[in-house]
Amino acid sequence: MIAQELPTVMVVDDEPEVLMAVTDALEDEFYVLTSTSPLKARAMLEGDDIAPLVIISDQRMPGMAGHEFLRWARELSDATRVLITGYTDIDALGAAVNAGQIFGYLPKPWTPDRLGRLIREAAEHCAVRRALAEERLLLSHLMNSVPDPIAFKDKNLRYLRSNVAHAKALGVDNPDDLIGRTDQEIGAEGAARREAADQAALEAGITVTDIQQDAPASAEAPSRRRWYSVVRSTFKDGEGATEGLVTIARDITAAKEAEQALSEAHATLERRVAERTEDLAATARDLLAARKAADMANEAKSRYLATVAHELRTPLTGVIGFSELLLRGGVSPGEWHRLLTLQAEAGRTLLGLLDDILDLSKIEAGRLTLENLPLDFRTLVDDCIALVRPSASGKGLAFNSAVTSALPAKIMGDPTRLRQVVLNLLTNAVKFTPAGSVSLTAEVLPPPAGLGGAPSRLRVCVADTGIGIPPERLSGLFEEFSQVDETTARRFGGTGLGLAICRRLVEHMDGRIGVESVPGQGSRFWFELPLAVSAEEAAALPPLTGAGPQAPSGRARGGRRILLVEDDRSTQILVSTILRGVGHEVDIVDNGAAAVQAVDTGTYDLVFMDMHMPVMGGLEATTRIRALQRTPDRPLPPLVVLTAGVTAEERERCRAVGLEIFLSKPVDLEKLLLTAATVGLPGGEGDAHD
Ligand code: ADP
Repeated sequence: MIAQELPTVMVVDDEPEVLMAVTDALEDEFYVLTSTSPLKARAMLEGDDIAPLVIISDQRMPGMAGHEFLRWARELSDATRVLITGYTDIDALGAAVNAGQIFGYLPKPWTPDRLGRLIREAAEHCAVRRALAEERLLLSHLMNSVPDPIAFKDKNLRYLRSNVAHAKALGVDNPDDLIGRTDQEIGAEGAARREAADQAALEAGITVTDIQQDAPASAEAPSRRRWYSVVRSTFKDGEGATEGLVTIARDITAAKEAEQALSEAHATLERRVAERTEDLAATARDLLAARKAADMANEAKSRYLATVAHELRTPLTGVIGFSELLLRGGVSPGEWHRLLTLQAEAGRTLLGLLDDILDLSKIEAGRLTLENLPLDFRTLVDDCIALVRPSASGKGLAFNSAVTSALPAKIMGDPTRLRQVVLNLLTNAVKFTPAGSVSLTAEVLPPPAGLGGAPSRLRVCVADTGIGIPPERLSGLFEEFSQVDETTARRFGGTGLGLAICRRLVEHMDGRIGVESVPGQGSRFWFELPLAVSAEEAAALPPLTGAGPQAPSGRARGGRRILLVEDDRSTQILVSTILRGVGHEVDIVDNGAAAVQAVDTGTYDLVFMDMHMPVMGGLEATTRIRALQRTPDRPLPPLVVLTAGVTAEERERCRAVGLEIFLSKPVDLEKLLLTAATVGLPGGEGDAHD
């Protein structure tokens, strides 16, 4: 056992005495294996269970020379080889030394001392080599198990050693294939750059760089760009002179990609934040603008209310003031008449204002429903002109009107609203023209070019030679209460609402309205509407006629029997007084049921029917009256609705029971008289629409 813990020495000699002598000399320090035959010794070495540090062989042996055996042994064992030889074999000895086959030799005759010294040296040499080999093996294990590419280069940048990861990164399978070559010789990608960096490191001592390079493509991993953080560090010899450098590269692709992803995410985030900030700023701007608009709208509303209040107060002052004057008494009959006229005028102004305000608020609230009926535009224009002609003639103004013959006899539209617009423009023209003329033209414009399928347009123009409007006031002219100057109302009357209403009405009809004007020379107001021709001109409603001065106003064509169905006492008195004043006979009942009975038993030429009454309303009364049995000599009298304003729906309901003719309260005397005188007579049927 003890013997086996000693380092092993093998001795091969054909002379057993020599073997004995050698064993004697060495056995204290070594476990000595002996063999007299090189062949047997070789078999022992091949047996693999011995690992001698030293193999000693005699040179002269029968069958095989010692140096030949040692050459064999070299292939089987890493033991240090020693030849024992006599001087006669000096040539063989020299050859063996030169071929590196032996570590030393022992010339005969040898002494145990010399043998011991030589074998100890040889054993140590073997042990050192073995330790070195093990170190190298460990180092290579270490290097190859590290995933980071590692390489050593000499100062001429030739590879001394490299690990598998490094070789792979260069596209080489075996790290040994790199040894002794430079990057440029290998032809690896990025060789020049790498060598420049190596050179710089050789001069600087140590460097750290991040580099990017393409990884070579392989079957498993297609080529892609990889990042390495490379540490280059020099190493020196014993005297401190630089011998070469070692490079250790760490694959930081994942970190770089994460960094890049992070910076992209950051950039995206920043962009989003910027966009968001911009959105918020825009929202804030919108909110501010909306608030400003709301404030302005509020301000406009307050201004509007203040103006309305003011406008109402002015005529009210007249009404109240004149009443008080009259009540106080002591007024001469002439003065009486003047005060009453002024009072009536103030009342009319008040009514006009009220109508306008209601109109506007109805339009603003989106409650304006336009009718679409066949209408005769020429008659409509004539009616309007008839209404303003008296005041025009009173001022000595010439009046012209021309409606193109291209305009069809019946067009579709809302007669009431159209008339309102035309009348407003005409009234203004007359009002603001002290001398000269007022003219109205109506023409048909072709559809706008390029708009296939668009309708032709009706263009109406009201021109005057009046005071004109300063350019700076033109733009706001169609806004509420936009009288050109404050004295206008005092000088000319008016509410400042007419044009605002016109604009809204025209825009509701899908049209446009505008004005051109030169101060001191006159104005030209115009509006354009899409023109729709009535499909059934023949089936039109009764022609639109208003109370015109050429109409037999105030004159009854002989007295007629009229039934007034009305519950309001003052209206009863007013209407009956007016009608009786021109020779009509008037019976009064104050509810629908009484009206049905009156018509059933009496004979009437005309019935004025209020809508809202106790007992029975106008609609039901009308239905019942229409159901009464009539005879040819006692036909059904025509019915006229007398009402304080009807909605479009109410008007529809009226039409449904056959009520076609409407008179608004408060009653316009002219219209009342005209209606009473003409409705129901041949050629005199009129629609007294308001
Ligand atoms: P008003 O009831 O005061 O006439 P409008 O809205 O119809 O209200 O008109 C507003 C203002 O426009 C008038 O007060 C007047 O100053 C100006 N205006 C309207 N038509 C004419 C015109 N034909 N010539 C000169 N000024 C006009």
